[in-house]
Amino acid sequence: MTTLSAPPAVPNSSPSSSPAPTRLSRRVQKLLPSATVAISGKCRALKSAGHKVFDFSIGEPQFDTPQHIRDAAVKALNSGWTHYIETAGPLEVRKAISEKLRKENNLSIPAENICISAGGKQSYFLLVHALFDTDCGLECVLPTPSWLSYKPIAELAGAKVIEVASTVENDFKITPDQLRAALTPRSRLLVMNSPNNPCGTMYAPAELKALGDVVNEHNRRHPDPGLVVVTDEIYEKLLLADVPFAPFAAFVDPDRCVTINGLSKSHAMTGWRIGYAAGPAELIKAMTKLQGQMTTCVTAFCCPAITQAILHGEADALQMRDEYRRRADVVFSALRTIPGLRCPRPTGAFYLFPDVSAYFGKKSPSGKIIANAIDLCSELLERHHVALVPGDDFGPPGHRHVRLCFAADIPTLTEGASRIRDFIASLS
Ligand code: PLP
Repeated sequence: MTTLSAPPAVPNSSPSSSPAPTRLSRRVQKLLPSATVAISGKCRALKSAGHKVFDFSIGEPQFDTPQHIRDAAVKALNSGWTHYIETAGPLEVRKAISEKLRKENNLSIPAENICISAGGKQSYFLLVHALFDTDCGLECVLPTPSWLSYKPIAELAGAKVIEVASTVENDFKITPDQLRAALTPRSRLLVMNSPNNPCGTMYAPAELKALGDVVNEHNRRHPDPGLVVVTDEIYEKLLLADVPFAPFAAFVDPDRCVTINGLSKSHAMTGWRIGYAAGPAELIKAMTKLQGQMTTCVTAFCCPAITQAILHGEADALQMRDEYRRRADVVFSALRTIPGLRCPRPTGAFYLFPDVSAYFGKKSPSGKIIANAIDLCSELLERHHVALVPGDDFGPPGHRHVRLCFAADIPTLTEGASRIRDFIASLS
């Protein structure tokens, strides 16, 4: 077999009449790689050098997908689900989702108003591209700290992102006054995510209602183009405390609310790439049209597994939730007594987002000054092999924080927490 060597790279600035093949679009050049991906790269390098790494950087369940859900996909694969399917997903699967929304969330959203996509991330991507034009001057209001994909994906679509910073003192929840102050006649989208990545906390129903009232009042005064809310409820099943879950769609005009959810976190199915959006017909139709030109449809043989997970997977989700509760207790108890570390008790999802700014300016035993969360994370990883994510990418005031995902097993969490404690004690 002949091995072809790669052609020499063509510099971006090469003078030529036609664009050089390596000249990239400005919008892709502007996209920043995420801090999580950089940390994962370092983790992989340490692991391949033979080190045990206490990796709390990636936000994904460490359980396997339940067997009966896998069986449904295998059966589908072996019985002909190998062709293109409807762009929005098979109607019977969307009916199962519609029924879930009715039974569990008291929302009446017909199957026709649901689009199944390759993950909640793709659902969000489709939505912002359906709402924004390049240089449209319309705004996307984003409470922060927030999942690190919301901002770049919205900017890619042409939105101007307005960040509204929450605080550790307020359990990372924005107030109605903060929301009111952030809204303008150009506000087009409000992004809600409760339970929240990266903060690990969630809004109580009364708090959501108060924010919903602000949205409704705004839309009465500025109906055109009006504010749409996207509520990303991917961590709906990961409730860690007594705060009940409430869908944000219950508090705003259903014609202006899109609910995003999926199976990645609730049923340990990150690699399957399954998510969905449910909302007003016109928007879902536009998103489906876009999906038709992007990926055509989701993977066919996964579809019966979606129905299986939604109709018969509740016990699995609860079992995993109970285990996350135990893990949250272990890691929170271990970290809460570290002097200088400030963190609310996690109430949802599987994250802690402690404020580590008390250690900025201190020196590690290697002589390195810890100027910020990035230094802290890289020193912790290099010297103690514990991987956390610096909070910078999650928006203000994330630069004072680090994110720890506690989806790992209890022995790993216990050892990791003790290494964090030792590292912090070693700073002078
Ligand atoms: N929304 C939030 C808040 C997330 O944290 C993540 C993944 O980490 C996603 C969406 C993406 O989920 P999916 O795997 O369904 O694309």
